[in-house]
Amino acid sequence: MITDPRILSRDLAVIAEAPVSRAELEALEDTLEGFCASIRESPVAEGDVAGATRIYVERLAAAGLLRWVVPGEHGGAAPVISSTALCIIRQWLARESGALDTAFVMQGLGSNPVTMAGEEELRAQLLPKVASGEVICAFALTEPEAGSDIQGMRTVATPTGDGGVRLRGHKCFISNAGVADSYVVFAREAEDDPAGGRPRFGAFWVPASAPGLTVTPTEVIAPHAIGSVELRDVEVPAAHRLGEPGQGLTIALGNLDVFRVSVGAAALGLADRALSETIGHLNRRRQFGKPLAAQQGLQFALADVATDHVAAQLLVYRAAGARDQGRASVDQPAMAKLFATESAQRTIDRAVQSFGGLGVTVGQVPERLYREIRALRIYEGTSEIQKLIIGRSLLRPPR
Ligand SMILES: Cc1cc2nc3c(=O)[nH]c(=O)nc-3n(C[C@H](O)[C@H](O)[C@H](O)COP(=O)(O)OP(=O)(O)OC[C@H]3O[C@@H](n4cnc5c(N)ncnc54)[C@H](O)[C@@H]3O)c2cc1C
Repeated sequence: MITDPRILSRDLAVIAEAPVSRAELEALEDTLEGFCASIRESPVAEGDVAGATRIYVERLAAAGLLRWVVPGEHGGAAPVISSTALCIIRQWLARESGALDTAFVMQGLGSNPVTMAGEEELRAQLLPKVASGEVICAFALTEPEAGSDIQGMRTVATPTGDGGVRLRGHKCFISNAGVADSYVVFAREAEDDPAGGRPRFGAFWVPASAPGLTVTPTEVIAPHAIGSVELRDVEVPAAHRLGEPGQGLTIALGNLDVFRVSVGAAALGLADRALSETIGHLNRRRQFGKPLAAQQGLQFALADVATDHVAAQLLVYRAAGARDQGRASVDQPAMAKLFATESAQRTIDRAVQSFGGLGVTVGQVPERLYREIRALRIYEGTSEIQKLIIGRSLLRPPR
């Protein structure tokens, strides 16, 4: 049954069982079931989204859920980050709240570059605190002139002579800006590639307390801690560089590759909620002397979005499974993110339509979902950029 809250009970034959076994995934769903019930019993007010983010991180850590975003050697739940586990977690959390899902995933998106390329001392110092919620993380890539085209980055890393750099520039749309204790910042190396004269980029770990780092909050249509980050001559010691000079873009794109499919899973969570709300409302609401559920026109509309929803789940868990089994490709996560976010938008729009006037009434679940889904088609690569990735992978000359 696609409405079964337990994802492993949905007969998705594509769910991978490595690096995490079926029994471990079952136990994870037990934890999520209890955790989500506790969120419903004692909800967090999201009016102050920065405060809500801190509480969510604390509660996620207490439930052990943040252990899924760091590797086993630094306090993680599995030897390496499991895409399938990430997707299951995000699908459950997004059913409850978009801000809760964001609080979870930013711990991974904002720390994984350190996992991928940080010096061992930094990894050992930071990652256990990410898992315990003591440190809140952010990933600072986007700039006013560098959105889809990240190579347009203007933030510059100028060498200080002792192996470190000084960062100067402006980042925007940075989730957790103002709440985060830890930023991973990407910048253009002051010196271009000596051979080709091409711009090179670096990746750096910067604590929020670094002199010269300031934040201005931004308000978006759904609760989401976000803002812009100004870097005015922020000093970064050599030990806080991630990878080698010039590897920043590879680290940024590699990080997005790990988390992109999980955006699709968050969309599945929002769509799950929309479907169950729609079904409940169609059964309850009576017009023309019978429940709306008896109208064939509405049954057809429900059938369309439910079929899309199953297809989206197959794409998401297939892509996550392929990554977990070492068969990662660029097109599978792109297709999963594209289809799952676009179809979730349609499913939620259908929920709003099924609720009639109530669907656009502030405080009703469909109205909230309608605002929450929108950004997922934009961040971590817009739908158009996913199409570019898919198109290019199809048109690449055979090797
Ligand atoms: C809620 C939210 C959270 C975010 N969190 C983070 C974060 O934590 N860290 C971070 O670094 N960034 C973050 N972002 C930024 C996000 O990744 C960018 O907004 C996104 O990459 C798009 O960039 P842009 O907004 O500059 O749009 P633009 O790149 O200006 O694009 C505008 C429109 O043009 C389209 N377009 C652009 N180029 C092409 C093309 N070649 N072909 C066809 N269409 C094209 C796009 O698809 C889009 O529809 C966040 C954004 C949002 C909304």
